[in-house]
Amino acid sequence: MSGNRAVAYVKPGTVEVRTIDEPGLELKDGPGVAPANVGRTCRHGVIVKVLASNICGSDQHMVRGRTTAPAGLVLGHEITGEIVERGPDVEFVEVGDIVSVPFNIACGRCRNCKERQTGICLNVNPARPGAAYGYVDMGGWVGGQAEYVMVPYADFNVLRFPDPDQAREKLLDLTMLSDIFPTGFHGAVTAGAGVGSTVYVAGAGPVGLAAAASAQLLGAAVVIVGDLNEERLAQARSFGCETVDLTRGKEEDQIEQILGVPEVDAAVDAVGFEARGHGKDAGEAPATVLNSLMGVVRAGGALGIPGLYVTDDPGSSDSEARVGTLKVRLGLGWAKSHSFTTGQCPVMKYHRGLMMAILHERVHIAKAVNATVIGLDDAPRGYAEFDQGASRKYVLDPHGALAGVRPV
Ligand code: NAD
Ligand code: ZN
Ligand code: ZN
Repeated sequence: MSGNRAVAYVKPGTVEVRTIDEPGLELKDGPGVAPANVGRTCRHGVIVKVLASNICGSDQHMVRGRTTAPAGLVLGHEITGEIVERGPDVEFVEVGDIVSVPFNIACGRCRNCKERQTGICLNVNPARPGAAYGYVDMGGWVGGQAEYVMVPYADFNVLRFPDPDQAREKLLDLTMLSDIFPTGFHGAVTAGAGVGSTVYVAGAGPVGLAAAASAQLLGAAVVIVGDLNEERLAQARSFGCETVDLTRGKEEDQIEQILGVPEVDAAVDAVGFEARGHGKDAGEAPATVLNSLMGVVRAGGALGIPGLYVTDDPGSSDSEARVGTLKVRLGLGWAKSHSFTTGQCPVMKYHRGLMMAILHERVHIAKAVNATVIGLDDAPRGYAEFDQGASRKYVLDPHGALAGVRPV
């Protein structure tokens, strides 16, 4: 290892590839590192050679200037790779193992981790519960859109693939286990998708498409995906979803045309706070999805809400939305006895089962999200195209490990 090439956030609209320090088993001071995390030693950590690291819609919130992310923050929370070094306290994973790294960093020791709520671990971020690699307000753990990254509490966090050769062959699908596949699945499960259910997924980005594929895996009778982006809706249709085009107005009427009734059993918000209103030239309206989902979900149903909502949005034109206060019509959800599940997906709850579904080719997640491999140096282009709504899930390939790898 000589230096470590990594993708850094520079300013709104700009990321660049730069050389940063090689990772060690200590969290050093740097952009976004919580002061109380500086100097934290990680004898329980491993160094991972990154074989695949994906660009996420969550990264885009930062890169669009919609968070308080500091300049220089090294990005990347969707990490799959090979362990090349392990700390003295690591017992059960070995150098040479190929692993999926959940985007949530979790200690495995606190109350929430013990209750499988690894998205809100109490010991990894001095500022608030929950941490992630390369993310604003998430403890300052260095991101993995890089050649190498340090993963703390390795025995607890990583998912080891049973056969390294097989893992390399199916890497383009397995890379979705670090975030979007479990996140979409969590959205579908918490919305109550099950055998014979009707499911509406708002958002046809990678998370929405993963939620739609998950609802199919869970046995849904009909999965409907809504967006304002026609290319992304076509991608949803490519694997058997129905679609509604929100540039043509509200989803209710279009859902009625598909199902014969204007309601669904279960709904997933895979959009979040940068939601646009419905109709052709609608501007931003952060509560649109939450309110419209309460409109279309049956009484007694549930909303899975993986779409991200923030406590600080410096880019909003609305003073209340700037601190995360939205005009949500809770009375409607209350009247219909709706349940809501928000927050980071606790990846570890789902990743093993979803890995098995990939390894045994029960699901085609890389195809569903149109996984697209690019080099680390092409990250700025990947960010720009994704921001413009390309119907692709960009996967960075820092070491050429994905050359010739096909979706399962
Ligand atoms: P993305 O930005 O690629 O996709 C969002 C899609 O929503 C876009 O295609 C956009 O056109 C569409 N959209 C905008 N307004 C809409 C509306 N009113 N109705 C329907 N669609 C609308 O992002 P992504 O990578 O797919 O991620 C989706 C969300 O999930 C983001 O907010 C991301 O931060 C969040 N996320 C959460 C978790 C978690 O653990 N909870 C994990 C990963 C991502
Ligand atoms: Zn992500
Ligand atoms: Zn914990």
